[in-house]
Amino acid sequence: MSAADDLARASRRLYALGWMRGTSGNVSVRDADGILVTASGIDKSAVESADAVRIDAGGAALPGQERSASAEAPVHAALITEAGAGAAVHVHSLAAVEAAARWPGGVPLVDVEQLKGIGRGAHGDLAIVPVVANSQDMADLSARILAARDPGVPGVIVAEHGLYTWGSSLAEAIDRTESFDWLFEHALRLDRLGRG
Ligand SMILES: [Zn+2]
Repeated sequence: MSAADDLARASRRLYALGWMRGTSGNVSVRDADGILVTASGIDKSAVESADAVRIDAGGAALPGQERSASAEAPVHAALITEAGAGAAVHVHSLAAVEAAARWPGGVPLVDVEQLKGIGRGAHGDLAIVPVVANSQDMADLSARILAARDPGVPGVIVAEHGLYTWGSSLAEAIDRTESFDWLFEHALRLDRLGRG
């Protein structure tokens, strides 16, 4: 199974979870030859290995490829080259966007088993997920995400936009994305019950 196959399979899975609607979202992975990211403007329910675009450390597509890289490729490249991730996932998780609107200074998560899914303790271990403002300038957005990043929290929410997560592998980045979505939904529900 090549890295391009893994990327395609990951995109289809994240689409099926409802987080990559209307061509939104993108996935990247590092392999022996560099970095691969999903192509721009594609339906994530039908991503194939041919939709993986090879990019440089700045997020620009290497020459001679049929498809253009996702507009958000520079953010992926920054997470991989500057933050040392093996893979990065960007999804338009509704729960992430709503949680950032509720807690714009950072989303507090504590005292629930699913926290183990983002590498934290189930009890008495407060994790605050950073929130950054959205930007259409990808260099600016990358800088904000890298600056806000907490080494103990493998994700950053972009307000009014979505979630970036990362991991040492694509499987780990996806696992964490699933855990984050659950945790944000849980935090919002507790808050609605007046127990947040
Ligand atoms: Zn996006």
